Amino acid sequence: MNDHNRTAGNLIADIFNYLEYQKDLYGDDVFVAEKSSEKVIHEPQTKPQRLNALYLEVKNCQQCGLCNSRRNVVFGAGNPDADIMLIGEAPGAEEDLQGKPFVGAAGQLLTKILAAIQLKREEVFIANILKCRPPGNRDPLPEERKTCKKHLYKQIEIIQPKFILALGRVAGQVLLETEKSMQQLRGDVYDFQGAKLIVTYHPAALLRNQQWKRATWEDVQKLQKLYLNEKK
Ligand code: SF4
Repeated sequence: MNDHNRTAGNLIADIFNYLEYQKDLYGDDVFVAEKSSEKVIHEPQTKPQRLNALYLEVKNCQQCGLCNSRRNVVFGAGNPDADIMLIGEAPGAEEDLQGKPFVGAAGQLLTKILAAIQLKREEVFIANILKCRPPGNRDPLPEERKTCKKHLYKQIEIIQPKFILALGRVAGQVLLETEKSMQQLRGDVYDFQGAKLIVTYHPAALLRNQQWKRATWEDVQKLQKLYLNEKK
């Protein structure tokens, strides 16, 4: 393939990912900007508009070295008005390929975990600490965590979830700015900018260690209880 064809291919892939992301946000309704005879630049106001503006910014991010090895930025997906945000560590191989969070085997398990507490993926918003895949699924480096969490914090600021479920040690450590172990992080309900935050095991870890399923079940039941109490 020559450079010209490769550039055209990249452009088409970008457009496709953008349209897919629009579909995640708006379903089958296509968002069309209002026509105006006056050239007035409107600041995005609604949560979907603000998230979309952030997505356009993040999809071209080159603020850390992971931009060189990624195939796609995995911004996150779900309901911009979600009461619950699920935050994992970083995209894996399948997520990197598709540009969507939690679409591999761990993602299927996550969907089942949500269903067990009567939640659908479309009701929550799912994101990661890092938006680009670390090569070989290595742990995100401190500098990568520090740089990329700015994008996540903007997402949280826009969505304003009432609950956050941190999936895995890295997500818990970054959000709570601590070096505590998974065992130390589990079991408490933390405050994160007004949201109640619970830390549990990452679904990928559960696939490798079945013995952590019971603890995870306890954590998500706690989340469900808090959520249902909030809705009363
Ligand atoms: S991992 Fe985050 S900071 Fe690094 S390039 Fe990707 S979006 Fe930017």
